[in-house]
Formats: sequence, C-alpha cells, structure tokens
Amino acid sequence: MLELKDIHTYYGNIRAVRGISLTVNAGEMVCLIGANGAGKSTTLMTVSGIHTPVDGSIHFEGQDITETSAEDRVALGISQVPEGRLIFPDMTVLENLELGAYKRNDRDGIREDLNKIFQFFPVLQERQKQRGGSLSGGEQQMLAIGRALMSHPRLLLLDEPSLGLAPLIVKQIFEIIEQINTDGTTVLLVEQNAQIALQVTDRGYVMETGEITIEGTSPELLADERVQQAYLGE
Ligand code: ATP
Repeated sequence: MLELKDIHTYYGNIRAVRGISLTVNAGEMVCLIGANGAGKSTTLMTVSGIHTPVDGSIHFEGQDITETSAEDRVALGISQVPEGRLIFPDMTVLENLELGAYKRNDRDGIREDLNKIFQFFPVLQERQKQRGGSLSGGEQQMLAIGRALMSHPRLLLLDEPSLGLAPLIVKQIFEIIEQINTDGTTVLLVEQNAQIALQVTDRGYVMETGEITIEGTSPELLADERVQQAYLGE
C-alpha cells in the first residue's frame, strides 16, 4: 500500500532522514520506533506531505505521490494524527470532528463515520458540545484520532499517541487503535514507547539518527537483544 524508497528529508542543513526505505502492506499495522530525535516524526510527516523529501520516492497504492500536496494525500486516503494531538481547544468536540471531513461532501458517509467514531469513543459523543480544550489528555488524543478518521482514511498515520498519558489510558487508546486496524484501516505508528508499539503491531522498523538500523516482525524485534537493551529497558 505504501512504499518509501531512499527518502532524504532535511531541515535546512540538518539531515533528519537519511535514505529511509520502508513498506506498509494493506491491512497491516507497522511501527517506527527509536529514540528522541531519530527522525521518526519527520518520516511520518514526509508520508503525509507536510515535509517534502529532497530525494527518494513515495508510492501509495501504486501511485507516485512524492510531489502530491498534503491536502491531496488526505483525499487519496492518507490521514495523520499529529504528535501532541493539536486539536482546536476553543472549538467543540463535534466541530473538531467535522473539520476532519472538510474535503468530503458525502453527507451520509460522514454521518456513518461519525457514528462509528462515537462507537469507538463513547466519551466523545457524551462531550460533543464541550470545548475541545476542556477534555483530558487521553480524551484529546481520542478526539485527534477521531478527527483523522473523519476523512475516512485507508492509511492512518499516528505520531506518538502515548505521549504524556497515564499507562491505563495508553492501554485503552491502543486497544481502540487495534480495533480500528481490525476494522480495515492500515496503520503506520510512530512511538517512543517501544514496548506497547511492538505488542500491538505486525512489523516494525527501528530508526537511529535518520536511518533504519533494524527491521523485522514485531515478535522478532521484541526478542532482539539490541532492541531489548536500547528500547525495552531489559
Ligand atoms: P521525537 O520523538 O522527539 O519527535 P523523532 O524521532 O520523531 O523524535 P524528529 O522529530 O523527526 O525525530 O527529528 C529528527 C531530527 O530533526 C532531530 O535532530 C531534530 O532536532 C531535527 N528537527 C526536527 N524538527 C525540526 C525543525 N522543525 N527544524 C530543525 N530541525 C528539526
């Protein structure tokens, strides 16, 4: 479904991503793990089109999207949940969700997706008239995921959904992410919490200073001594 070939992304002179190649197959849940500053978010934002690579190519469902705008990538079926959630605090929960569907005009489909999101996250239905900013951190993460789902993506990009959340809330959110994947949405997940990421995903890539250093199925990575020492605190 997604293929990155030899992607290089810079911030001015800073080489944040240095020749990344990776694939995500339809239906899979794949993670990108690694330390702070390894280049995971930059890779994800290169997939969503927020950053443009200086070299390399990105294909989505067979189509070259390297030059496609972020907005058009949403319309093609790629949606990102950004790090830090970035919901609109002064808009209501419902307004935040509706924003996710701004490129759509299939009213029935939008209503159907909204109902599905309320099934995943009943608290968002209960609080739909409240200000986004009045939600707890975990609820805001749910809102950010819900907003991304409102574009009806086939590929969902998640950047650090566990950030700043208590372990119990992280567990709840990951259970729902697994369910979203089981229901048919392909997921590419960026996480510093390697333990939980490798427990829920099918495959993973480890990034260090802009490069992929280890890759494999998630059970293989969980059993890998290098991963255990560097990322699992074992
Ligand atoms: P984190 O988990 O902290 O988000 P990460 O693995 O996602 O880390 P990136 O955020 O992609 O890493 O950062 C990769 C490198 O690019 C780091 O050296 C970082 O300092 C640098 N970087 C990230 N964003 C910018 C920016 N806007 N301007 C300049 N350098 C940046």
